[in-house]
Amino acid sequence: MPQFDLVILGAGPAGASAAVTARKHGLSVALVDKARFPRPKLCGGLVTGRCATHLKQVFNLEIDPQLFETRRNFEFYMEGRPLGRLDGVPPTHLTMRWDLDQLLFSKALAAGAADFSGQRVEALDLAAHRLVLHSGDTLDYRCLIGADGVQSIVARALFGTPFDPARVGFALEIEAPARAPTTDTPVRIDFAAADWGYGWSFPKRASTTIGLGGLHLRNPDMRARLARYLDQLHTGQGTKIKGHFLPFGGYRSRPGKGRVLLAGDAAGFVDPITGEGIGHALHSGALAATAAAEAIAAGRPDTALSRYRPMTRPIRTALRSARLLRPIIFSPTLKPFFASTFRASRTLKRDYMHLLSGEVEYPALLARTILRLPLAAWRWMARRKRSVSR
Ligand SMILES: Cc1cc2nc3c(=O)[nH]c(=O)nc-3n(C[C@H](O)[C@H](O)[C@H](O)COP(=O)(O)OP(=O)(O)OC[C@H]3O[C@@H](n4cnc5c(N)ncnc54)[C@H](O)[C@@H]3O)c2cc1C
Repeated sequence: MPQFDLVILGAGPAGASAAVTARKHGLSVALVDKARFPRPKLCGGLVTGRCATHLKQVFNLEIDPQLFETRRNFEFYMEGRPLGRLDGVPPTHLTMRWDLDQLLFSKALAAGAADFSGQRVEALDLAAHRLVLHSGDTLDYRCLIGADGVQSIVARALFGTPFDPARVGFALEIEAPARAPTTDTPVRIDFAAADWGYGWSFPKRASTTIGLGGLHLRNPDMRARLARYLDQLHTGQGTKIKGHFLPFGGYRSRPGKGRVLLAGDAAGFVDPITGEGIGHALHSGALAATAAAEAIAAGRPDTALSRYRPMTRPIRTALRSARLLRPIIFSPTLKPFFASTFRASRTLKRDYMHLLSGEVEYPALLARTILRLPLAAWRWMARRKRSVSR
């Protein structure tokens, strides 16, 4: 008999969400992480409305001002030039992952998950359904969830590689000194600060989180780009720079095999336009645990993936739609069209914000964009004609 119904590797948002959900289904759970919590995690810490919904559903967690700073104002730039500002938009929330992940991890333990944090994996034997830890502990499981991030060893064991190098993103980030933000201080987004990506400046109480992210292959000069971006923002020079891969469009259409499931970054579930991943990690972690619980209850742990895959279809559909929209926003060829249209259009800015807040999902946005594209293109050409004839 395996000691654990479910072993979860990785105790970030995906793993903690899977652990809490699995405990709600009555499964015995081992939660393994190589780090001890609290642990650093490179992230902007922007929590969307979509993500807030999952925090409430899975952890019963409210947006508490101790942990989250709510922002309703955004300003947009491209190559240093303003594209406009929106005030009073639906709320998004800024947090520090050190604190958020510690809270989620503690909730997973409080729900009854066995704590194997601070433990490296020595061997992963998928055929024997067994994980051996560096400490010598052996964990036998009915189902396994790989929630071990973008460089997932579970994904590597299943598919030979944790991610598609042609599609993966890379981001650099710093924590610059705080600038005494108020609730009115805008969050800043800089399109094209990186190729096929963007820059961000998130003003928080303790620091200003500034970063750049984009497709890894298109940005061999990411450090130089960050230096230019910091010069534009007049802050952060000389601060320690950290970098991390992030999935950016290369999600797995089969997120696992048999009784082994992938959730969060390990499955590539990150928005290829906004870089949002916390919400999808919470959501997919909970779905993976539910699929595992159903498979175990049916006495067929091997059917976990066939249950999980349809559950994740809405996430995959959203990411696929985002991938189709992405060239309009990020392609260098369409940059003048996007900049001019975004600057002129309040609707487009609002769409972007409704997307971030979770009030609009990508498939609806894609359909709307296709309908609006001919008019937007016609208006752009008219604007160009006017500016040339002036
Ligand atoms: C610079 C940057 C900025 C970002 N900003 C945002 C943002 O503002 N908003 C947003 O929604 N998303 C953002 N993201 C994406 C977001 O950080 C991820 O999508 C999210 O953390 C995914 O959660 P996860 O639980 O899948 O993985 P992770 O949070 O990466 O957690 C994985 C866990 O697995 C553990 N682990 C890894 N390997 C092993 C191993 N071999 N053995 C044991 N444990 C292991 C790690 O220690 C870690 O605790 C950003 C990403 C980057 C890189």
